[in-house]
Amino acid sequence: MRHRAATILIVDDQPVNRRLLEALLAPEGYITWSVASGREGLARIALEPPDLVLLDVMMPDMDGHTVARLLKSNPVTSSIPIIMVTAMVDRQARLASLEAGAEDVLTLPVDRTELWLRVRNLLRLKALSDFQRNHGAILEKEVRTRTADLQRFRTAMDATADGIFLIDRATLRFVELNATACSLSGYTREELLRLGPGDLGSGEPDAVRVIVEDIVGGHGAHRLADILLRRKDGVMVPVEVTRSAHRFGDTWVVVAVVRDITERKKAERRLHQMAHYDALTGLPNRALFYEVLRKTIVQASDGRGQVAVLFIDLDHFKKVNDTLGHAVGDQLLVQFSDRLWGCLQLRDAVGRLGGDEFAVILVRDDPQAGAVAVAHALLEALRQPFVLGGRSVVSTASIGISVYPNDAATAEQLMQYADTAMYQAKQGGRNASRFFTPQMNADALTRLELEMALRQALEHEEFELHYQPKVEIASGRVVGVEALLRWNRPGHGVVSPAEFIPVLEDCGLIVRAGDWVIAAVCRQIRLWRTSPVGDLPVAVNIAQRQFVDGDLEATIAGLLDHNGVPAHLLELELTESSLMANTAHTVSVLQGLRRRGLQISVDDFGTGYSSLAYLRRFPVDKLKIDIDFIRDITTRPDDAAITLAIIGLAHSLKLEVIAEGVETAAQLAFLRQQGCDQVQGYYFSRPLPLAALEALLHDGRGIARLALA
Ligand code: C2E
Ligand code: MG
Ligand code: MG
Repeated sequence: MRHRAATILIVDDQPVNRRLLEALLAPEGYITWSVASGREGLARIALEPPDLVLLDVMMPDMDGHTVARLLKSNPVTSSIPIIMVTAMVDRQARLASLEAGAEDVLTLPVDRTELWLRVRNLLRLKALSDFQRNHGAILEKEVRTRTADLQRFRTAMDATADGIFLIDRATLRFVELNATACSLSGYTREELLRLGPGDLGSGEPDAVRVIVEDIVGGHGAHRLADILLRRKDGVMVPVEVTRSAHRFGDTWVVVAVVRDITERKKAERRLHQMAHYDALTGLPNRALFYEVLRKTIVQASDGRGQVAVLFIDLDHFKKVNDTLGHAVGDQLLVQFSDRLWGCLQLRDAVGRLGGDEFAVILVRDDPQAGAVAVAHALLEALRQPFVLGGRSVVSTASIGISVYPNDAATAEQLMQYADTAMYQAKQGGRNASRFFTPQMNADALTRLELEMALRQALEHEEFELHYQPKVEIASGRVVGVEALLRWNRPGHGVVSPAEFIPVLEDCGLIVRAGDWVIAAVCRQIRLWRTSPVGDLPVAVNIAQRQFVDGDLEATIAGLLDHNGVPAHLLELELTESSLMANTAHTVSVLQGLRRRGLQISVDDFGTGYSSLAYLRRFPVDKLKIDIDFIRDITTRPDDAAITLAIIGLAHSLKLEVIAEGVETAAQLAFLRQQGCDQVQGYYFSRPLPLAALEALLHDGRGIARLALA
């Protein structure tokens, strides 16, 4: 029980006795200290308490009983066992010693064996009581630290945002929980301690058992699971659970850490919504639409079904946006999507691809017929004007349709083909629908190549200008020329502007091409001015887009300036239809140009819808009667009458008139007779390359006269 040698203090005034006791104890391995008086003994004990005291009763200065009483009354020394050594053998004396506090009494002369036994027994007792006392203190301290630990632990548990539930494996009841577990579930701690996970989950008790066994078996430990927790008030809360199993003695406890993920789920839903739906119309966006289309195709491929896709684009939406503002444009899109919805069945899918582009997926027994019906219904629904910010606006749509599997096998291709068909519907005059045909693909490809080639043409200077003379009827003189664009397309020869001008207009390149034409013409006028040709007015054709997209006035003013060309030598030809398209803006640009001194003429006059009276509003100088009326002027009285009317009205508005496409002497004679001012046509000259024109002008007077003769 004890590891170090026991220390024994011998207190005796007789040196003989002290030596005797030392001698007897030494062989037993005890360490002995000896003092000669009670006072010395007390001092020694205070310095270093021994394990046992052998105390002589009869001592001169302080007797053994007094020493014993002092030791026993002091809590520090009271546990040290005392054996009184006395010569008196009577019962009275023994009792007095025990009364003074001694544990035992030895009578002199000391018996060696008796001494050993008594000393050993008392030391054992002392060791035992020491141990008990120490142990008690240790336990007490341990309990105190444990309680503090536990308190800290509880506080920490309660402070965590996660609910913590301890579940007994055997009973499947909760055995411990934290504060969050209570607030999360809506139960008090006492209530929860009477419940188990089965009462909070949507799962069956058997399922709970399976899960717990799974975790104890080491399969489910630390695995995350998203489940629903049923609160006391019945509300189901989405939570994330981490479960792990822990052994406590011979029982197992499953610790479930439960996190409320309501907010996360909400955020996830919001993100999902944002990623998949268009914020303006609430319709599925492009990404989701394609996803749905892909799935629909997979399903159809199993059941040999057909799927029709409608690609829908609003006509002239940009104009609404530009003129009425984006807020009104947005309103139009929302109202449009509502009407589109109204044309569909529940099983159809719809999406907004972006901008003013929408698309529909039809899965029906006869998707072709369905597509026709939907397209028809939509175009009908659009006949009713939209009311946007108190204004009523009519908007039409163009629709392209493609069908799986007839046209294409993938979502991307199907959509691309529907887009192509939509484009054809637009080309055909808008407010219409078209089914995709393979020919459209070939056309689209050709067009795409054409667009790319035109871009290159601009960069590689593949364009050049031809010039067609304008002849004054009265004098027979060349009074000007019209510059006409030609494209020397590598590998194709010279391409007609009728083929490429509309493409340039569509893809927006017309502004760059137009600028190039004006620059080239200004340079040419400058060169002619210092050559024998002299001042020669040149007309250039201006496309409508040049008014809208570029800063036409600034461009022209800059180029005239740069070349030192007087404005009256440059004439602009605008078709009647482009003049009518964007009236307010066009009129103001034309007014500016005319103030600078440029000549403005209306090209292809008679083909548009404008009344002659309407013309008064436009700052123009000249009308060009369209070739269509001139062609049959001598054979068709109608055409002759129209030409006549145009000449008459133009003159009454103080405008000059020129006839285009004059090919015969008879046409010329008629026009001269009716008082037309100028003519232009093959009869005099085709549009000519520069060198040929200059040669003609050189002896032009003769040719013109000859022609007029
Ligand atoms: P336009 O401005 O009406 O030009 C007259 C067209 O009639 C020219 O065709 C010309 O070659 C043709 N023509 C002239 N006299 C006769 C004739 O006696 N009989 C027949 N059958 N045709 C005649 P071209 O050069 O093919 O140009 C076609 C159209 O392309 C032009 O019509 C014009 O609208 C446009 N264009 C030409 N160059 C330009 C340009 O630089 N810019 C723009 N925006 N358009 C241009
Ligand atoms: Mg022209
Ligand atoms: Mg013309």
